[in-house]
Amino acid sequence: MSAIQDVIARVKEKDSGQPEFLQAVQEVLTSLEPTAQKHPDFVRAKIYDRIVEPDRVIMFRVAWVDDRGEVQVNRGFRVQFNNAIGPYKGGLRFHPSVNLGIIKFLGFEQTFKNSLTTLPMGGAKGGSDFNPKGKSDQEVMRFCQAFMRELYRHIGPDTDVPAGDIGVGEREIGYLYGYYLKIVNANTSVLTGKGLEYGGSLIRPEATGYGAVYFAAEMLATRNLDLRGKTAVVSGSGNVAQYTVEKLLHMGARPITLSDSDGTIVDEAGIDGEKLRFVFELKNYRRGRIREYAEKYNVPYFANQSVWDVVREQGLKVDVAFPSAHENEIDGPSAEALVKNGCYCVAEGANMPSNLDAVRVFQENHVLYGPGKAANAGGVAVSGLEMAQNAMRLSWSREEVDQKLQGIMRNIHRAALEASEAYGCKGNYVMGANIAGFLKVAKAMLAYGI
Ligand code: GLU
Repeated sequence: MSAIQDVIARVKEKDSGQPEFLQAVQEVLTSLEPTAQKHPDFVRAKIYDRIVEPDRVIMFRVAWVDDRGEVQVNRGFRVQFNNAIGPYKGGLRFHPSVNLGIIKFLGFEQTFKNSLTTLPMGGAKGGSDFNPKGKSDQEVMRFCQAFMRELYRHIGPDTDVPAGDIGVGEREIGYLYGYYLKIVNANTSVLTGKGLEYGGSLIRPEATGYGAVYFAAEMLATRNLDLRGKTAVVSGSGNVAQYTVEKLLHMGARPITLSDSDGTIVDEAGIDGEKLRFVFELKNYRRGRIREYAEKYNVPYFANQSVWDVVREQGLKVDVAFPSAHENEIDGPSAEALVKNGCYCVAEGANMPSNLDAVRVFQENHVLYGPGKAANAGGVAVSGLEMAQNAMRLSWSREEVDQKLQGIMRNIHRAALEASEAYGCKGNYVMGANIAGFLKVAKAMLAYGI
């Protein structure tokens, strides 16, 4: 058994109750096999054993009072995975599915993703099993304050800089940041995704979605294709999905789907600018459900079905797919249906939305498959640019940030492609992205000794 397979076996044994973490470790480490052959010093220094073990795990109680005056107790997490190449960096997720295994998988992935951006950021992730659905503004505020009451002591602009993720948007970042400011009395770059008035960066809200589309365009260009006139399916309807649709429209594509945990809409005429404005208003301000889109524009709605169920069951014709909802939303049969219905490009806006079977199906069928840690790195990249602007105490224009984002996505694509060539798996973006992201972190860890 190779040194890497040994490590996977140990994680399987030690972290058996953390299936998502195990899945991520299996995917990443397997693709790193060629690096172990080329760099025996990594094996000697046990880099592979060390990289799957977070630097530290912080778990805490979050007690808060709901609108009825009842005390609620949630669990908070911050997993500081690896700070070899920069301060810990990664989002906070508020969702009932959050547990230690989920946060560890996300922090592990974040380590490689952040390295790929070329900016100096380590990997981390945090969050809570708090469910923001149906909560009042006041409840969300009280929860955020209780959460920050503990988190503040573990973070700092040179230590750990959290941001948003599922369930944490600009509203939550505002409450978290405001409370940090109150306790620590330092108005500093301790969170990203901030409002423009208090240190946020232009293009940060757009960055993940825009970046995923830029990445898809780069992959398509390797086959002399572009997005013009292409039919795109997008899952989710939150921040990532919204700005994916916006950039697809800029590029002349035809996005036709959106979804939430209740169901999926299919708009064969194409989601246009006006309909997208409705979605912005619906999801971001009224916090409504995507079903209302179907009612307003009189298009089919599929209750309790994901975009991938609909692709499979309705035989939707697809050119490109942007899974932008959550982990493991695409399984093997859904991936097969996508391929059968014409899909030749998948760019992941979510983290690990394709399970291991689905990835295998895409690769066997020569689909241009951009894994999340490459395709959705635009979000954290612009977080890095927000930190840079905060440190310089100035702010760049929309055009400047967008230019930089495009450059970063182009570089990530090139780095992944070049690593795939150098390590004998040309065109395999999974291996290329994992290897390119890993090498920088591994070399830094090696330099530091034990
Ligand atoms: N949650 C985002 C991600 O998965 C962004 C993290 C950040 O900006 O720190 O990459």
